[in-house]
Amino acid sequence: MSGSEEYTKSREIWNLKCAKCGRCIQICPTYRVTKWEHLSPRGRIILSPYTEEDAELVKSIFSCLTCGICEAACPSDVDVTEIMERTRERYTKQRILPERHLRLLDNMVKTGNPYGDEIEMYETDDRVDLIYYPGCTSLAREKEIFDSTVKILDSMDVSFEVEFRYCCGSTSLRIGGDLSYAEKNYLRLKDVLKKTGAKTILVNCPGCYRTIKRDYEKFGGLNADVLHITEFLSMNTDRLRLKKENLKVTFHDSCHLARHMGIVEEPRKILSLVADLVEPENSKMDSFCCGGGGGVRVSYRDLTRAVRKVRIEQLKKTGAEIAVTSCPYCYRNLKNGAEGLSIKDLTTFIAERLRK
Ligand code: SF4
Ligand code: SF4
Repeated sequence: MSGSEEYTKSREIWNLKCAKCGRCIQICPTYRVTKWEHLSPRGRIILSPYTEEDAELVKSIFSCLTCGICEAACPSDVDVTEIMERTRERYTKQRILPERHLRLLDNMVKTGNPYGDEIEMYETDDRVDLIYYPGCTSLAREKEIFDSTVKILDSMDVSFEVEFRYCCGSTSLRIGGDLSYAEKNYLRLKDVLKKTGAKTILVNCPGCYRTIKRDYEKFGGLNADVLHITEFLSMNTDRLRLKKENLKVTFHDSCHLARHMGIVEEPRKILSLVADLVEPENSKMDSFCCGGGGGVRVSYRDLTRAVRKVRIEQLKKTGAEIAVTSCPYCYRNLKNGAEGLSIKDLTTFIAERLRK
C-alpha cells in the first residue's frame, strides 16, 4: 500500500471510530462560544477527510485549540487532537492554511522562532548538570518569566547554564508544519548535552515540555531528564526560602501541562507554600483552555477572546486576588483579557516571595 493510500485508510478509520454520539460537543470550548457544529470535535472529525480551500472548512480544522478536553469525554477513545494535527499537516503541505499561520511558518524558516524576532541566543559548552531552556515566549515576549526563573534558581544555589538558539518546534507541530523545525532543535540540544555532560533539561513552557519530552522521541529521544519548572521546584522545596502570605490565589492549568502531560499536583504544592489556594470550576485534568492554544490566537482572535472570557469568569468566581498559571503562553493570553483580575506566571509569583 502506498503512503497516500495508507493515509486515506487511516482517515476512513478515524471517521468510523467516532460513533458520532456527540458527548464531546457541549464541553468543547469553541463549540461553547459559537454553537456551530463544524467548530466542535464531532464536526471536525466529520470534516477531517476533506481538503478544500473553503474558509469555513479551514476554520473548522485550524480553530481547534488542541485542548484535549473532548478526548476525556469520548467513550470511543478517539484521539481528536492527533486527528487535527494530522489533518493540518495535509492542509499545510498544500499551503491551504490561514494567512497568519503561513507567516508564522515563514518566521520559523527565517529566524528559527514563530515570532520572527532576532531572539537573544545563549550557548554553552561548560560542564554542568542542568541546562535551562527558556523557550521563545519567555525570552521574546514575557522576559520576566526568564528573569524570575534565573532568580529562583540562583536563590536555590542551583548550578545551571542557559541554552537557547531555536524554537523547540512546538508551534509548528501543533499547526501541521513539518518536523524539520523540531528536529533542528533536537539536534542542537543533543549536541549541547554531549558537550556539557548535562543530565537534565529544565523548561518553563508546557509546549516545550511536551515537544522535548515526548515529540523528540520520534527522532530517537534525548538522553536526559526533561523537567518542567513546577516539577523541579516541587522536588526541591527544601531549597526554596519563601515567605507565606495571607493571600487567596487560584491556579489555571495549561492544557498541555495538565491533560497532555499529567502535571497537576506540582504547581499546587509550590503555591500552597506561599498562599491559600482555591480551585476554579474546571481544574486539573478537567481544565478549561485559556483560548490561545493550537495556534488559534494567531488567526482566530475573536474565538480566542470569547473562550478566554469564559475562563476569566471561572477564575474570578473563586474570589481569588491573583490567578497564577505555569505556561508563558497562557499567561500572555489571559493577562490580555483579565478584566481586573491579576494574572501571574508561577515563576514571577514565587520570585516575588523569596526571602532575602
Ligand atoms: S481539542 Fe478542544 S477545541 Fe479541539 S475539538 Fe476537542 S474540545 Fe474542541
Ligand atoms: S465523544 Fe467521541 S465518539 Fe462521540 S462524537 Fe465525540 S469524538 Fe465521536
